[in-house]
Amino acid sequence: MELENLVILGSGCAGLAAAIYAARARLDPLVIEGDRPGGQLIETAEIENFPGFPDGIGGFELTSNMRQQAEKFGIRVRSGVAERVDLKEKMMTCGGASIGTRAMIIATGASARRLNIPGEKEFFGGGGVSTCATCDGAFYKNKTVFVIGGGDSACEEALFLTRFCEKIYVIHRRDRLRASKIMADRVLSHPKIEVLWDTIPVAICGEKKVTHVRLSTQNTEWDLPCSGVFLAIGHVPNTAIFEGQLERDAEGYIIAEGVHTKFPGVFVAGDCADRHYRQAITAAGSGAAAAISAERYLL
Ligand code: NAP
Repeated sequence: MELENLVILGSGCAGLAAAIYAARARLDPLVIEGDRPGGQLIETAEIENFPGFPDGIGGFELTSNMRQQAEKFGIRVRSGVAERVDLKEKMMTCGGASIGTRAMIIATGASARRLNIPGEKEFFGGGGVSTCATCDGAFYKNKTVFVIGGGDSACEEALFLTRFCEKIYVIHRRDRLRASKIMADRVLSHPKIEVLWDTIPVAICGEKKVTHVRLSTQNTEWDLPCSGVFLAIGHVPNTAIFEGQLERDAEGYIIAEGVHTKFPGVFVAGDCADRHYRQAITAAGSGAAAAISAERYLL
């Protein structure tokens, strides 16, 4: 069995910020990358509100910079996910190897929520359903696409898609956007974007690729043609692996005291434990706090 000083689960904004702090504190952290290295930020085209970047910065660039910065201080990164974790014993398995650690930071983040309607699974990926406009938007040049959701992510996806698409329908289940005012205003005033209010998708249809979506507006079902569907209906925390060990709320977010869990030496950071803010800057901040707490614990 390998014995580590500090293991950080996750390589998104929270995990990498924790890694920078921990490495500078000479804690020799091992980062287990997770199944989406870089986390949610890699899907974000432009981040305008991360302090220190007055002209904004791409999500991929920001997370790559964080990783480079952490590597400069000597972090070790292992690809893959922790398949089993015993928080009480601070033990885990990763790629078949058993790892024990003196301290641990859980920064497993969150993943895009799915609608769970007919057609979503079948057309996911190359068929026309995506959770990432930054990744897939360019495939829809001069096409009509839908963005599902009414939060900041939906607005951001819709605005990004205006670079390629002819027409973007934002399909929202309520009569007002949840997004911040600045994003909502941009969406509502954009000539290529139209919001369909009080409307929910009930099925995604087509043969090999998406051709239309069946929508329901005030209990009336109707079809609207489109070539692509971008889901932006929020996120689900990646915490299933901790079921039965850590208290979680109804949506699966870890319930903690700041960065402290009930297990001494086990800390949490970022979106896996943050149902309120879910920002890159708050994730980075809690990553730094978790690393400082880990340092104090390991003293
Ligand atoms: P969110 O704020 O939770 O919004 C999710 C949206 O999806 C809501 O409008 C919700 O509708 C809708 N929705 C949820 N489940 C649905 C379902 N089953 N069917 C149809 N619609 C559904 O999530 P988010 O937009 O991903 O944002 C998450 C956090 O990241 C927020 O704090 C946000 O401010 C932040 N963020 C910030 C930026 C930025 O500042 N540039 C960009 C992206 C994200 P209801 O409104 O009816 O609940």
